[in-house]
Amino acid sequence: MSDFLSHPLPNIPDSDLPKVVIVGAGFAGLKLAMKLRKKRFQVILLDKHNYHQFQPLFYQVATAGLEPSAISFPLRKVFHGSNNVTFRMAQVDYFDPKIKRIYTDVGYIDYTYLVLAMGAETNYFGNKNIEETSSPMKTVSEALYIRNKIISNYERAINIERSEDRKSLMNVVIVGGGPTGVELAGAMADLRNNVFPKDYPELNFHNMKIVLIEAGPELLGPMSKTSKEHALTYLQSLGVEVMLNTLVKDYNGHKVVLADKGTIETQTLLWAAGIKPNTIGGLELENYAPNGRIFVDDFSEIKDCPGVFALGDISLMTQEDYPKGHPQVAQVAIQQAVNLSYNLHKIEEGKEKKAFKYKDLGSMATVGRKLAVVDLPFIKFQGIFAWFTWLFVHLMAILGVKNKLFIFLDWSWNYLSFDPSLRLLIKPKAVRPSEQKALTEER
Ligand SMILES: Cc1cc2nc3c(=O)[nH]c(=O)nc-3n(C[C@H](O)[C@H](O)[C@H](O)COP(=O)(O)OP(=O)(O)OC[C@H]3O[C@@H](n4cnc5c(N)ncnc54)[C@H](O)[C@@H]3O)c2cc1C
Repeated sequence: MSDFLSHPLPNIPDSDLPKVVIVGAGFAGLKLAMKLRKKRFQVILLDKHNYHQFQPLFYQVATAGLEPSAISFPLRKVFHGSNNVTFRMAQVDYFDPKIKRIYTDVGYIDYTYLVLAMGAETNYFGNKNIEETSSPMKTVSEALYIRNKIISNYERAINIERSEDRKSLMNVVIVGGGPTGVELAGAMADLRNNVFPKDYPELNFHNMKIVLIEAGPELLGPMSKTSKEHALTYLQSLGVEVMLNTLVKDYNGHKVVLADKGTIETQTLLWAAGIKPNTIGGLELENYAPNGRIFVDDFSEIKDCPGVFALGDISLMTQEDYPKGHPQVAQVAIQQAVNLSYNLHKIEEGKEKKAFKYKDLGSMATVGRKLAVVDLPFIKFQGIFAWFTWLFVHLMAILGVKNKLFIFLDWSWNYLSFDPSLRLLIKPKAVRPSEQKALTEER
C-alpha cells in the first residue's frame, strides 16, 4: 500500500469553490451530493465501494428474490454530466480538524466542509463466537453470501442419508425481530414452503425449521401494536417458529445456545440483532455517545468541530420530540442531507441556518410473498393492500429506471410463478497469489 500520508489525492480538478468532502455514499451522503450537484460547491464523494446499496431489499437478495445488481447502483453513473462532483473509491481512515485534512488509503484531501455519513455495521454486543460464526447482512455481498450459503447447504444436505444428520444444514435461525429479521423470516418461509420442495423433492421439508428469535416481548419494536400482532400471526401462519423473550447466549457454527431455553441445531445463523456506527479517527471521546453515535447539534454540526457535520445512522441529534435521537432509518438520513444542503448554501451566503425537523413518513415491513404491515402517520393497515403499498414505496425509492423496471419484472414473475429464479451457485474464482500481489500494489 502506498504511503497515504505523504501525497494528496491525485487528479482532483482545481477549483475556487468551497470544497465539500463527503465520506460515505449511502442514503445520506449520496442524497447530499445529489442536492449539491451543479451548485456553487466542489463536491468530493468518497466511499469504500463504487456503488450505492439499497439496504431495505438485502433480504430479497439473501432469499434469491433479486439480483445484487438490481439493488446496487454505480456511483459514477449518478454524476455523469455533473462537473462539480468527483467520486473516489477510497477507505477513509481519519481526519485532522485542526488543518482541515482527511486521510484515505489513496491519498489525503483538504476540505472546507467535511460531512461524515459512514452509516453503521453489525453489532454482536461483544460476543466473538457469534461474530466469527454467524452471517450478518449489512452489505450486498453479505446478502449474496447468505444466499450462496443456504443453497450450498441444501446441495450438501441432499447427499446425507440420515434425516437426523441433515437437520443442522436445513434449519435456519434468524436473530432479531426488527423489520430485517421479520422480512428475512417471511421470505425464508416462502422458499421452504413453495420453492425448495420442488428443487429438492428427495428432502422432507417438515424437517426444516425456520426460527425467529427476539430478545424483547414483541416483534417490530417501534411499530403499532396492531402491526406487531399481525406480523406475528402472519409469520406463524407461514410456519415460522417465533421465540420472544429469548436471548441467544452463544453459537459455535452448529448449535445455537439459548439462555434457559436449550439449543437449536443449525449451520445457518443469520444475525440481524443490532447495529453500531462506523467510525474514523479524528474526534475526541466526548464527541461520542455511549452507543457510538456522534453528538451533533440541530444543524448536524459536530460540537467543537466547526465545518464538520455528521448525518444518518452515525449521528445523534437529541431534540424535544426525539430525546434519545432519531431512529436509524433511511428517511432520517435523507432528510438530514436535504437540510444540510440548504444550510451549506446559507452558511456561504452568511444567512441564518435552519434547524433540522424530522418528518416521520411512517414505517412498514413485508411478511412473505403477499402480506405486509404498514403504519402511516394518519392510518395503519395490514394484509395484501399493505403489501402492494410496500411494493410501490420501495419501487419508487430505488435509484435508476432500469433497476425499477427489473425489480418490477422480478416481483411480478415471483408473485405469479411462486418461483424466484435466482438460485444459481456462482462462486468467484480464487485469486492467484501473483494476481493478489498486483491488486495490493495497485491500491
Ligand atoms: C438489512 C437492512 C434493512 C433495512 N431496512 C430498512 C427499511 O426498510 N427502511 C428504512 O428506512 N431503513 C432501513 N434500514 C436502515 C437504513 O438502511 C439505514 O438507516 C440507512 O442506510 C442509513 O443511511 P446512512 O447514509 O447513514 O448510512 P449507509 O446507507 O449505511 O451508508 C454508509 C456508507 O458509508 C460507506 N463507508 C463506511 N465506512 C467508510 C469508510 N471508512 N470509508 C469510506 N466509506 C465508508 C459505506 O460503504 C456506505 O456506502 C435497513 C438496514 C439494513 C442493514
